[in-house]
Amino acid sequence: MFDYLVVGAGFAGSVLAERLARGLNKRVLIVDKRAHIGGNAYDEYDAHGILIHRYGPHIFHTASAEIFNYLSRFTAWREYQHRVRARVEGRLVPIPINLDTINTLYGTHLDSAGMKAFLASVAEKRDPVVNSEDVVVNGVGRELYEKFFRGYTRKQWGLDPSELDAQVTARVPVRFNRDDRYFTDAYQAMPARGFTHMFGNMLDHPNIKIMLNTDYREVRDEIRHDQLIFTGPVDEYFDCQFGKLPYRCLEFKHETHHRPVFQDAPVVNYPNEYAYTRCTEFKYLTGQEHPLTSIVYEFPGAEGDPYYPIPRPDNAALYKKYQALAEATPNVHFVGRLATYRYYNMDQVVGQALTLFGKLSGLKRAEGAALS
Ligand code: FAD
Ligand code: UDP
Repeated sequence: MFDYLVVGAGFAGSVLAERLARGLNKRVLIVDKRAHIGGNAYDEYDAHGILIHRYGPHIFHTASAEIFNYLSRFTAWREYQHRVRARVEGRLVPIPINLDTINTLYGTHLDSAGMKAFLASVAEKRDPVVNSEDVVVNGVGRELYEKFFRGYTRKQWGLDPSELDAQVTARVPVRFNRDDRYFTDAYQAMPARGFTHMFGNMLDHPNIKIMLNTDYREVRDEIRHDQLIFTGPVDEYFDCQFGKLPYRCLEFKHETHHRPVFQDAPVVNYPNEYAYTRCTEFKYLTGQEHPLTSIVYEFPGAEGDPYYPIPRPDNAALYKKYQALAEATPNVHFVGRLATYRYYNMDQVVGQALTLFGKLSGLKRAEGAALS
């Protein structure tokens, strides 16, 4: 008999399991259909001894001291500022678009004010800004939109940017300076010994039992529990009774190269070439030293494991139906990227899980997060 059955050992499930066991002394069983903990943030040493992220590059960043401090209980950190280059017209230029991107592409010597004036002259004002095309065209105009965003987005989502909510491309800002970091959050770091090691520490508690290679549906009638925390796809929980919620899938092609460095940046985006969107070289992220180097290409598609909820109005409307059902289901709590159909980063999922823990424990979120 368990107090809580937790479905999914990713960030959402692991934070809840950890808090419930360590903070409230609850007995928790966590099940995951995969063969490992960590969900999509899982990392492992490949056959050559290089630390890789099996499900694509995961870089931790957050503006929240509370979330960073909470995770710091389970890991030391390696400071890491992420940088991405896009290959456009044969050149590798910074993305997010910044002063150097513009000056390199156009052979200009603009300063910040000059870049602002230039973008103002090419931007096509959109009012209101509703979709992912509006955001970019409104900010940088059609030409840069086509060079950096249109092709990449069509490849990544199988949809035109005009068919996606504004929040998708709004994740990538424009910078009027030479800052070429992908994120500007106060906390940007990688777990010093990797994500999986951090998850291991989170779940290392006598009240937490872990059952891997187990689909929830196989065991739900056999395991007695008071409450359920569900972090899988919400439509699946309800047998897709209103129809399937669309999720975007990815295939990963991992390679190891017999040289120390493969490419000039941690991630190279390919907006207008190839079937893959980007290529990541892991040693930049992890700081590992090794004579060989491992990389991964990401190929988006419609079939396979669900990785991304697809933010667009009709999907939001369908999700709302499932959300209403979820809210009316007693003793079952839905949390995480798939269960709440939100395009969330890792830190946002941790925040969402800590908020739910606050609700379950009757404590304020900050008090719940600090409970030892
Ligand atoms: P998941 O990690 O998906 O965990 C859910 C778990 O539930 C899975 O392990 C799954 O196997 C299990 N499960 C599902 N259904 C069942 C079932 N029926 N029975 C048993 N188990 C089940 N975020 C960042 O902050 N920075 C990044 O750089 C970043 N990069 C990303 C790159 C890629 C390619 C992707 C796809 C995501 C990236 N993210 C990044 C987002 C990040 O992966 C998520 O925010 C986070 O992992 C979500 O955690 P979760 O627990 O909600 O879901
Ligand atoms: N995007 C783009 N070109 C780029 C980078 C991003 O068009 O070079 C768009 C694309 O639609 C992508 C979205 O912006 O899905 C968000 O990018 P981000 O890097 O945040 O995506 P994630 O890391 O979540 O895959």
